[in-house]
Amino acid sequence: MKNVAAKLTPIEYEQNFAEIHPALTPNAAVAEANRCLYCFDSPCMKACPTHIDISTFIKKIATGNVKGSAKTILSSNWVALTCAKACPVDVLCEGACVYNERGEEPIQIGRLQRFAMDRYFEQGMPPLFTPAPKSGKSVGVIGAGPAGLACSAELALMGYDVTIYEAREQPGGLDTWGIAPYKMKQQDSINEVKLVQSFGVKIKTGIQVGKNISLGELEKAHDAVFIGVGLPKPTRLNIPGEDLDGVADALDFIDDVTTRKWKKVDVGKRVAVIGAGNTAIDAATEAKRLGAEQVLMIYRRSEKEMPAYEFEFELAKNDGIVFHFQTAPKRIMGKRHVEGIECIRMKLGKPDKDGRRKPEPIPHSNFKIAVDMVIKSVGQNTDDTFLGKILGLRLQDGNVVVNAESYQTTNPKFFAGGDCINGGKEVVNAAYDGKRAAHGIDKYLTNK
Ligand code: SF4
Repeated sequence: MKNVAAKLTPIEYEQNFAEIHPALTPNAAVAEANRCLYCFDSPCMKACPTHIDISTFIKKIATGNVKGSAKTILSSNWVALTCAKACPVDVLCEGACVYNERGEEPIQIGRLQRFAMDRYFEQGMPPLFTPAPKSGKSVGVIGAGPAGLACSAELALMGYDVTIYEAREQPGGLDTWGIAPYKMKQQDSINEVKLVQSFGVKIKTGIQVGKNISLGELEKAHDAVFIGVGLPKPTRLNIPGEDLDGVADALDFIDDVTTRKWKKVDVGKRVAVIGAGNTAIDAATEAKRLGAEQVLMIYRRSEKEMPAYEFEFELAKNDGIVFHFQTAPKRIMGKRHVEGIECIRMKLGKPDKDGRRKPEPIPHSNFKIAVDMVIKSVGQNTDDTFLGKILGLRLQDGNVVVNAESYQTTNPKFFAGGDCINGGKEVVNAAYDGKRAAHGIDKYLTNK
């Protein structure tokens, strides 16, 4: 990159990337827990994709039984600390809290869940669950992200021998390297990996199925296989200049920030982020917090259609990010390095098959913006070669087709869950899929 923003001091890095929502003190947690009405038929519980028994875990905090609270939470969700910090609680549990109807602040469910889980990990993960006697059967899990971890924990407690194969050097998936550090620390995800390992789950990192271990070896070693490989392939913009020096993929950029590679991670003085989803917002705010003087976001639809949550949008605006709505990139300019971006104004036409109004270019409305860096965040895709050709699974729109109840794929021995079946949802959805798939695998292996 040609024009690189000046590096921050170590103190500035820590200040800029400190967690946005500080932990509740014990007194504040008990006071907040005592506000809960312990609703019969809790709407908050229904709104949580993993259906955590929220009123019960809150009541346990109120009565000082924090370990019991952690047990209630973990019984439904094996990556509950990540979810407490990274879930869009405004649109899930807290959005459904009855206090909203009264025009009052909802119970801070996310921060209470974090309180219980932080204490649990600080206390060194006291044993809360006893694994069933060994079944003598083995399950291989591809991918150590939230779906794979949840599936593995559940299966290990049912008595299965579980081995996870993870292509990266560090387990945890996006929880470890894809969530902005001001939302959660990488160590939080590593702690959740350790919890799953404490049930006897083996994790082999740096292992790519089809490369370091063949499909035949995998099938021979295990009675069933769970696939939780996420969406590893970034969508290309397919415009000129996409491969210039200074063009980065949002998740790679976030990975460097999450893993605190401060020396390695460079940011331009003027940065354009393409896309307006939650990942794009993370990349934009991180670029600003790394020292970029100006960060703009380019999105082809209007503010109304942007996929980012409202609170993410507010965060970006507070960080001084400038939004260019109804604007599409035409080409990235520069000889070797990014020097600018040419865009075109868009108008919204008729709704497409998803009901969203289709953006159409306005003729002769091209304009140029001088930038030194472009971060692409227009979506991720499954590795269809691996899933479709190597594993031989049926895909629809690039996603693995599974039975909605059992999570079994078109190969009866293979099950799948998380982003690779839904095209990209929240961590909490992946955690739920993994757990349910474990029960699908158990039924398959016990002929229930
Ligand atoms: Fe408590 Fe709100 Fe859930 Fe009712 S809806 S149980 S008040 S958190």
